[in-house]
Amino acid sequence: MGKRMVVVGGVAGGASAAAKAKRENPDLEVVVYEKSGWVSYGACGLPYVLSGEIPRLERLVARTPEEFRKGGVEVHTRHEVVDVDPELRTLTVFDHGEGRTFQDRYDYLVLATGAKPTLPPIPGTEQAGVYTLRSMEDGEALLRALEGAKRAAILGAGYIGLEVAEAFRKRGLEVTLLELKDRPLPHWDEEVGNLLKEELERHGVEVWTGVKVEALRGQGRVEAVETSEGVVSADLVLVATGIRPNTLLAQAMGVALGPTGAIATDEEMRTNLEGVYAAGDVAESFHRVLGRPYWLPLGDVANKHGRTAGAVIAGKKARFHGVVGTAIFKAFGLAVATTGLSLEAALKEGFRAKKAFIQSRDGAHYYPGSQPLWVELVYEEGTGRLLGGAVVAKGHGALRIDALAALLHQGGTVEDLLALDLAYAPPYSPVWDPLLIAAQQVR
Ligand code: FAD
Ligand code: NAD
Repeated sequence: MGKRMVVVGGVAGGASAAAKAKRENPDLEVVVYEKSGWVSYGACGLPYVLSGEIPRLERLVARTPEEFRKGGVEVHTRHEVVDVDPELRTLTVFDHGEGRTFQDRYDYLVLATGAKPTLPPIPGTEQAGVYTLRSMEDGEALLRALEGAKRAAILGAGYIGLEVAEAFRKRGLEVTLLELKDRPLPHWDEEVGNLLKEELERHGVEVWTGVKVEALRGQGRVEAVETSEGVVSADLVLVATGIRPNTLLAQAMGVALGPTGAIATDEEMRTNLEGVYAAGDVAESFHRVLGRPYWLPLGDVANKHGRTAGAVIAGKKARFHGVVGTAIFKAFGLAVATTGLSLEAALKEGFRAKKAFIQSRDGAHYYPGSQPLWVELVYEEGTGRLLGGAVVAKGHGALRIDALAALLHQGGTVEDLLALDLAYAPPYSPVWDPLLIAAQQVR
C-alpha cells in the first residue's frame, strides 16, 4: 500500500502540494481537508470579481474537487482538522456538513492553513455591514453587500485596501480610504505613496492618512467610522488592516514557529516534526537580501512552497530558494511594483543605504502614447550592492521589476545592473531603459 499524505487547507499552498505530490508519485494516497466550501482558487482575483471585470467567483477556481478526484486526489470541503497527534500520526477531523467527528492517519502531513485578517481593537467591528476580504466566502458576502451600498469606508491603504478602492469605485460607490500611517502603501518609500495618493484622488477616492480609527458607529448595522480626524459616514466598511499566519493547529501539535511568528521550515518545507511540512502563508521563507527568515504571504510564494513540499514528499529532489520580497499591484491607471527593501526599511536594518529616484517613460519620447514611468533604486553606499527597488508605471512596463528581482536574487550590484543588455524598441522603452537611467544616477 502506498503512503498516505494529508494536506490541511486546500487553497494555494495546499492544492499545489497535493497536485504535485500525486503527479510525481501516483502511488501516494493524497487527501485534502479544507474547512471552507472552496478549494484551489486564486484569491488574488477577488478584487476583480468585486469590480465586475470578472463576472463570477467560479472563474477564480483552478481545479474543482471533482477534477482533483479524477487526478486521484481526494478532496473534502467543509472538513476542518481540529487536532493532530504527531506521535501516533493521527488527526481528528470535524465534518461541518454532517456535523460529525472522525479520525484519520498520515505518513506525511502538509500544514497549509494560510493566514487570517487582523481586526483593529476598536468597538463596533462585529456589526452588520463590516467585512474583511480573504476567502471566496468573503467575496460572496461582499458581492451581496455591494448591491445597494452607496458609501464605503476602507480601513487600511495596503494591498487589499488599494485594490478594492478601485473595485468599489468601478461599482459606483463613494469611497474613503483611511490609513493609519502618513501615506498609502506605507511599507514603501514616500515618492511611491505620493504617486498613489494622487492617482486615487484623481479617481475620486478620498484618502485620509495619518488617521486613527476609533470606533465603528451604528445600531447593529454600521453607519459611520469615527476617527481622530472626524466622522466618515459609510454603509459598508471593509477592514483591510493586515493579516497574520493561521498557526493555531501547528502550535497545538508542537510545530515550531520561526522569529516572524509563521512556521519555520527548511528549504524542503520540512518543519521541526518528522513527516510534517508547511506551505503557503502559514510558513516563513528565507529572505535572500536580509539573510534571515521572513514572512511573505503572497500567492506565487504559496504555490512554490506547496510544489516544493509535494515534490519532496513524492521522493523527488526539490528546494525552495527563498524570496527577495517582490510584489506588484494595480491601482486604477498605475501599476506599482516593488522588490527587496525600501530605503526606510534598509536604513532600519542598519544598511548604509541610499536611493536614486527618476522619472522616465515606457517608450521613446517620440512614440505615440508612451506613458510616464518611475524607478527607485535602493543600494548600499560603498559596495553598490542592490538592496531594493520600485517601478511605478502609468502604462505597461512595471514588470521591469523582474530584472531587479533577478539581480537581488543573485546579490547583484548597481554595476551589474548597468552591464545588463536590456530590450529596446521605441514602443517599449527609451533607448536607455529607465532601470539604466536610475542606475546612472548612482554613479
Ligand atoms: P489561504 O489562501 O489562507 O488558504 C488556507 C486555507 O486553509 C483556507 O481556505 C482555510 O479555510 C483552510 N484551513 C485553515 N485551517 C484549517 C483547518 N484546521 N482544517 C482545514 N482547513 C483549514 N498574492 C499575490 O502574490 N499577488 C496578488 O495579486 C494577490 N492578491 C490578493 C488579493 C486578495 C484580495 C487576497 C485576499 C490575497 C491576495 N494575495 C495575492 C495573497 C494570496 O491570495 C495568498 O498568498 C494565498 O491565498 C495563500 O494561500 P494559502 O494556501 O497559503 O492560504
Ligand atoms: P497590508 O499589510 O498590505 O496593509 C495593511 C494596511 O493597513 C497598512 O498600510 C497599515 O498601515 C494599515 N493599518 C493597520 N492598522 C490600521 C488601522 N487600525 N487603521 C487604519 N489603517 C491601518 O495588508 P492587507 O491590505 O490587509 O493585505 C493582506 C495581504 O494580502 C497582504 O499582506 C498581501 O500578502 C496580500 N495581498 C497581496 C496583493 C498583491 O500582491 N497584489 C494584493 C492583495 C493582497
